[in-house]
Amino acid sequence: MRIVLLGAPGSGKGTQAKLLTEKYRIPHVSTGDLLRANLAAGTPLGLQAKAAMDSGQLVSDDLVLAIIRERLRNPDARKGFILDGFPRNLAQAQALDSMLANIGQPLDAAILMEVDFDILMQRLTGRRTCENCGASYNVYTNPPRLDDQCDRCGSPLHHRADDNEETIGNRLRVYDTQTKPLIGFYRDQGRIETVDAVGEVKDIFKRMLTTLDPIAKGQRKVVPLVKPQPPVKAGKTAAPKPSLKAILAAKASAAKAPAAKATAPAPKAAKKSAVKKHKKKDKKKEKKKDKKKHKKDKKKGRKKDKKKKRK
Ligand SMILES: [Zn+2]
Repeated sequence: MRIVLLGAPGSGKGTQAKLLTEKYRIPHVSTGDLLRANLAAGTPLGLQAKAAMDSGQLVSDDLVLAIIRERLRNPDARKGFILDGFPRNLAQAQALDSMLANIGQPLDAAILMEVDFDILMQRLTGRRTCENCGASYNVYTNPPRLDDQCDRCGSPLHHRADDNEETIGNRLRVYDTQTKPLIGFYRDQGRIETVDAVGEVKDIFKRMLTTLDPIAKGQRKVVPLVKPQPPVKAGKTAAPKPSLKAILAAKASAAKAPAAKATAPAPKAAKKSAVKKHKKKDKKKEKKKDKKKHKKDKKKGRKKDKKKKRK
């Protein structure tokens, strides 16, 4: 089963991916984790990524695709994979499609984990972590017993600076604008599946299995919504055939103004003949020059002959 997980930050993708990996025995391929692992191990692709990052650039889509491709060579990915973190926009989805086609492992489905904006805001802005023992809470969904105090060790809980509403709101909006076309792309292919990702983790997981079991068993058929257009071969992009209306309009205007057409080529002809005349004149001049030269040469020749005779 080859799937990609789509979902906003806070949709619980990571949590569900872990559970799915255990259930279906296929790897969770998180591009974020993969990139970090390649950087840490100093692989050739990791070094390329490091060079890009050191010069202040983003790691290119091509490089991320190469890293994914490399990962999918692993024997554990023979039965499939759960891709997470890529693609994030339409261009990446198209590039991913062609890469997977190249290695003969096309996607079965794209799973969209759907959560309302307001709930995402709650999940993300409500996060609190204990800096001492690492325990995590959410003031809305999983609050500590005492305000801002860890249940386990009693240390004060920490609220990350970038967990404020404005920052998170922006992140979610950016996600939304980039991902919407992506969802349309997979919908057109007949590959999108939407799972309600609100509620308890185990309930969401049940819904995931309901959706994924048929895919894992190969029972889900891919039915494209939009018929894919046949690719236009280069060189065959002839101008579109004019409509009957356009042809008739062209004939009518030609009939109306025949005089203009007849006189149109005249300036060209005039120009041509003018050029010819010039050429003729030039030739005449050249001939005259040649004759003069001949005469001079003859004179010189005679003089030389005379000189020779004198000697
Ligand atoms: Zn603690």
